[in-house]
Amino acid sequence: MEENKVEEIILKEKNSVLCKKYNSSGSFYLGGEPVGSEDIPKSLRTKINGVDIGGLHEVGKNCYILEKNEDIIIVDCGIKFLNGSNLADGTVPNFSYLLANREKIKGLFITHGHEDHIGGIPYLLKLIPNIPVYGSEFSASLVKNKLRGEELKKKVELFHEDKPIRVGEFRVNFFRVTHSIPGSFGLVVEVIKDNFRIVITGDFNDSTNAEVEGNTPSESKIVRRLENIIAEATGRVIITSFASNVYRLKKVIEIAKRTDKKIVLLGKDIAKTPNNKLIIFCTGSQGEERAVLSRLAHQIYEVEKVSNKLFALGAKVYENSKEDLLHASGHACQEDLKLMLTMVKPRYFMPFHGDFRMLKKHGHLAQELGIPAKNIFVCSNGEVVEAKGKEFFLSKKTFPAQPNYVLNGRLLPMEELSNNLTLREKMSQGGFLLVISGLIMNKNHQQKEPNWGEEVRNYMEEELLKN
Ligand SMILES: [Zn+2]
Repeated sequence: MEENKVEEIILKEKNSVLCKKYNSSGSFYLGGEPVGSEDIPKSLRTKINGVDIGGLHEVGKNCYILEKNEDIIIVDCGIKFLNGSNLADGTVPNFSYLLANREKIKGLFITHGHEDHIGGIPYLLKLIPNIPVYGSEFSASLVKNKLRGEELKKKVELFHEDKPIRVGEFRVNFFRVTHSIPGSFGLVVEVIKDNFRIVITGDFNDSTNAEVEGNTPSESKIVRRLENIIAEATGRVIITSFASNVYRLKKVIEIAKRTDKKIVLLGKDIAKTPNNKLIIFCTGSQGEERAVLSRLAHQIYEVEKVSNKLFALGAKVYENSKEDLLHASGHACQEDLKLMLTMVKPRYFMPFHGDFRMLKKHGHLAQELGIPAKNIFVCSNGEVVEAKGKEFFLSKKTFPAQPNYVLNGRLLPMEELSNNLTLREKMSQGGFLLVISGLIMNKNHQQKEPNWGEEVRNYMEEELLKN
């Protein structure tokens, strides 16, 4: 009670009228992106920012903002790759709200090092360089690896599970979660004076697998199956995985030792080692066009096409299925999601990281476990969940959420997006005709006949590259 009184006084000083007692002891179990709003009396804003700033109704570019009075913390800042698009490499969250409130930003916390959680960081730091960044040792090293130029000087502070970090109105605690990359954490953000907590589970418990029944199988099951396949193989074994699945790589190295085979990432050893003694570990498990597997298959399309091509080349292709478990998802299935909900017992719940169907399904699971429908927020990017007293509700305000496009490591300005990208989209589908008029002046400003061979070709290539 004592704390509530203090809070009331603070709010009064800031001319807030609508404030109720802050006596909530429940957890806001936020499974997703948060957002904020502008013209609510500031002291009433405990913005749980589910702004897309990214990751709602999509898989990628996760980013959440928590805001209270003069303090903002950001959780994750990812990229969404646009595979197969000729328009841009990917999209990152809309940073306009952060830019407008840059002086409030007290920290960026990284739950784990997957691209959809850290890939947007270099772009954000280019715009707002002085944001303190916090991450686990593994995520921090991945982030450092992405920084270029001035940003290289950036220090990524390491956090530890037994040491909470106080930033303004928030105290951030860390807990380990199981995921397909080392150093994965969830956060418990205490909103200190309001006496409530926001639990952000990170990727253990996003909505990606909310439609999949049962539990996510243990990685050890997969390893046993892999070992059998590898031991029996009479030719080369090619294993694909996400590059960041270090645990899987470690296990394959151990299997290689036990089965007396050599593992290569790519290189001359391929030629020197007999086929039946060779394991190639490569990227491209999802048919990514630029990944090694796709190049091995000489194809540039999605998964089925890559595996079809591999079949055509005479390969025996093992793919993950219910009957033949070869991959344990990094994401929790229904029973795991329910377990987390049962353990945290949240009063409010916001599913995140997934398309609308997945978020909805995750919301239904929460409802089945007794969370009232009105306390479940299935938001779109840019929507704001807000707290007044101990009540959370979906704000009428929204944030700008249209994504930023990135190309060649550069953020494309909005004008360029509307002009250039629309044009490029048309060109990519309809083709284009380039008309070059042949007039070249020599040094004495005399007209000369262009050399239609190399000279014009070089000029065209230069111009095309420039544009
Ligand atoms: Zn992840």
